[in-house]
Amino acid sequence: MGTVNTIIAFVYLLAAVCFVAGLHLMNSPATARKGSPLSMWAMVAAIAATIAKMGYDDKTSTTAWIVLAAGALIGGVVGLWMARTVKMTAIPQLVSLFNAVGGGAAAVVAIADYVRLSGVSSSAITTRDAVSTVLDVIIGAVTFAGSLIAAGKLQGWITGQPVIFPGARILSGVLAICALGGSGYLLSGADNIPVLMVVLGAALIFGIAMVLPIGGADMPVVIALLNAFTGIAVAMAGFVINNSGLIIAGALVGASGGILTKLMADAMNRSILNIIVGGFGTGDSANVVVGAGGADIRQISAEDAAIQLAYATKVMVVPGYGLAAAQAQHEVRQLAEVLEARGIEVHFAIHPVAGRMPGHMNVLLAEVNVPYTELKEMDEANNEFPTVDVSLVVGANDVTNPAARRPNTPLSGMPILDVDRSHNIIVIKRSMGHGYAGIDNELYTDPKTGMFFADAKRGLAEIVAAVKTLVG
Ligand code: NDP
Repeated sequence: MGTVNTIIAFVYLLAAVCFVAGLHLMNSPATARKGSPLSMWAMVAAIAATIAKMGYDDKTSTTAWIVLAAGALIGGVVGLWMARTVKMTAIPQLVSLFNAVGGGAAAVVAIADYVRLSGVSSSAITTRDAVSTVLDVIIGAVTFAGSLIAAGKLQGWITGQPVIFPGARILSGVLAICALGGSGYLLSGADNIPVLMVVLGAALIFGIAMVLPIGGADMPVVIALLNAFTGIAVAMAGFVINNSGLIIAGALVGASGGILTKLMADAMNRSILNIIVGGFGTGDSANVVVGAGGADIRQISAEDAAIQLAYATKVMVVPGYGLAAAQAQHEVRQLAEVLEARGIEVHFAIHPVAGRMPGHMNVLLAEVNVPYTELKEMDEANNEFPTVDVSLVVGANDVTNPAARRPNTPLSGMPILDVDRSHNIIVIKRSMGHGYAGIDNELYTDPKTGMFFADAKRGLAEIVAAVKTLVG
């Protein structure tokens, strides 16, 4: 038994080392494809070690094995089906759902263990058990409810605009009092399942109230934050059931999610403290300046766009959510190649929150092997725009909207790509439709801008064909 436990502990350690190595490999797009399978096999080994441990402990009843097997089978089949069928543009919703199930499962583990210990005797619950249970239930439930709301917003089932209801701050205060008061009571040594349920209910409602008011520019940060919460909840579940594999995996997700949250918050000019206390996303809609409504636009054709691009010296492509929605990454690569063959310098400007998930544009462009050397991060791209002959905006909207530079808009404070500082601008999108933040984009009425209304995939293919017909 001692040897078996040592082997199992060793497998957990090995899995932890592989998780860290896997995360390290994901630092660079060139090695990321190796990092993912390494982490996956490490997780398979950790699950196998856990099953072996349960088998050797001999405390698992036949019914429990059947329930576990059925759960793993159903979860595995549904997970595999979702991962195989999900569209690239729906990955953020899927990640939010995964965060929800991760946080929810962690909370359920803590509740089940608390109920079990409570059935043994009231003194069976130590302070350590109570602390990890309370933290697990609160963080897990906030993550579960908040992530479901975030997934609903991203899917368009709930409005992407901030939902602000009267008395929201008072409600948050009451929920905090319920959760903290109940937690304090449980930590004082009381064994009380109904109080734990009150804490659970308060945390669930808080999760909903936390994410509903968030819209526009703040959503990417909250998704990264909920991802970090999932990791912390899972680590707490590891303390509850004494599983070092779970503690390490959860801590790594919590830490990497925390770092991502900080990076996203910095990139979006938001403070994490504001996010946690729920003071963000609440731009006063009465004062919203929507900018360019009703102003004239200059409409151009594929041929016009081709001529501008083909006779430029330097072109900056600015991809956004519309590129992902149209799955136009192959066409954008083709256009870059055709222009480069004419001796034109082509780069891609990547905004940290373009698309609907962190790194969305990098993933799409990596899929079609756009060289990393052609990608420019926001600061670097902004230094270059004044020397760019033509900026080609493909399905990007909010990340280029100069309204972000003014106060009292849903985008205020968000750094943008300074596309309006280039000599000429071509925008490909289907209509004057809004982006995620739901406001007009005054870039479109800039006299330097030509609007080419088309689906990104079709529009780019037409421009490629038109450039090929041009001589010289
Ligand atoms: P936006 O959401 O601002 O705009 C996308 C534009 O794409 C729309 O205006 C739409 O216009 C156009 N579009 C849609 N489908 C097509 C198509 N098939 N062909 C051509 N164009 C199309 O995108 P951005 O990338 O500029 O900004 C991202 C936004 O999403 C930011 O507000 C960000 O805060 C938010 N967000 C980002 C997350 C992240 O982690 N990256 C997560 C959650 C939210 P039209 O309908 O006229 O074609």
